[in-house]
Amino acid sequence: MKKTLFALAALSLPVAAFADGHAETSTDPHMSVEAMADATLTQDTIAWDFVEGITTEVGPRQAGTEAETRAREWAVAWLIENGFENVADEPFEMETWVPGNLATARVTAPFAQDMVIQPLGNSAPTPVGGLEAEVVFFRTVAELAAAPEGSLDGKIAYISHEMRRAQDGSHYGFAGPARWVASGIAASKGAAATVIKSVGTDYHRNPHTGGTSWPEGVSPTPAGALSIPDAENLERMFARADGRPITMRIEMNPEFIGTTISGNVVGEIVGRNPDLPPVLIACHIDSWWNAPGAFDDGAGCGIVAAAALHVSHTGQPLRTIRVLFAGAEEVGLWGSRAYSEAHIDEHIGVGLESDFGADRIWRFESNFRESNPDLHARLAASVARFGVAGSTITASGGADINISRDQGGAIIDLQQDGTRYFDLHHTPDDTLDKIDPVQLRQNVAVWTQIVGILANEPRSIQTGGPIPSAPAIMEE
Ligand code: ZN
Ligand code: ZN
Repeated sequence: MKKTLFALAALSLPVAAFADGHAETSTDPHMSVEAMADATLTQDTIAWDFVEGITTEVGPRQAGTEAETRAREWAVAWLIENGFENVADEPFEMETWVPGNLATARVTAPFAQDMVIQPLGNSAPTPVGGLEAEVVFFRTVAELAAAPEGSLDGKIAYISHEMRRAQDGSHYGFAGPARWVASGIAASKGAAATVIKSVGTDYHRNPHTGGTSWPEGVSPTPAGALSIPDAENLERMFARADGRPITMRIEMNPEFIGTTISGNVVGEIVGRNPDLPPVLIACHIDSWWNAPGAFDDGAGCGIVAAAALHVSHTGQPLRTIRVLFAGAEEVGLWGSRAYSEAHIDEHIGVGLESDFGADRIWRFESNFRESNPDLHARLAASVARFGVAGSTITASGGADINISRDQGGAIIDLQQDGTRYFDLHHTPDDTLDKIDPVQLRQNVAVWTQIVGILANEPRSIQTGGPIPSAPAIMEE
């Protein structure tokens, strides 16, 4: 592993001494959180170091596989090297799916040509040698859902959608069902396989993978995503076919390999008062197999880890800051669920997650705007100088902080610009070069500011009232 040092010498600011690359968390409050956040805006190197390191030294890290194990080992070493305490890899069992090494699609009639496809997570394999069938075109999931029972017997269902770019990424919710549920609906109507237009916004010949799901009692079928250019080509074929059937041959060999071990990697900046509930900042360590996961979610882990370290460099915080690199998020939030189960009795003060790429933060949301308006307003005001707007939207938290939702606890969402996120999401293009270092540093600055305030907040974050005394209750 590359030696990781926060290049404080380059900061030209009065900062703590560092020995052996470890962050000093002495009580010397040499620098305010505000000054540190300002400095990180132009000079953070930690987040980049993390994402550069994990994409270079580990690369793709499919959940439940040896690649994800290597990622967790890498992350544990990185956290220890950077001075985190109580670093651990908390194992859990999961049912593991792997993509195989074969994914081909070819329109066989009437306009024979190859298309670019990748399997969706939880896809079944095709028979060896492939599966050829007539393709039935659905413009939307709603059209598919309205198809009569049995009308797809032995056929390949193709589902389109019209996803558009949006700063808040909201079209993912609009188009996402084509990937999340269409294959299960098609299978329940007898389809032999499902092919979707990739849920994405780019025009590269890159399929966007991601998980699909099967309703209770419905056996998995082969399910794949065509690149958007190929999907649009297929749709033009329907327009020109004059009623002739369009047939496609697909071959894929993903498989379910049974129970394997994944894990959640945690590390802490230990606070001065262990009785105060910790600040939990999360991301996920796994990625899909088809890319090194720079945007999703190497950057997120780099951002939260950098923020924790920068806050520690301003002096030991009042509360413990815990980073959670959740395992096996992509394939169904296995790590987030396992973490919540294992720690549900431990009072978490507030949960935040970074999992939307590396572009700038533009909006602040919490779920305690009404219950603790003073803190909400103070946090929102503190990041206005970084171009972050306030919001009346109630934060609901990201995938990796199930525990905060399960506890009914305080949650903050730092919304990132998602305009180009779905150009890259779950594609082979999710690589380091796509990260804009300027925007990545803006993330770190905002996170440092927010986490710095939260980690030094003496009262209940959720209510603004006094922290409940032991036994801990879940009011916060
Ligand atoms: Zn993610
Ligand atoms: Zn993802």
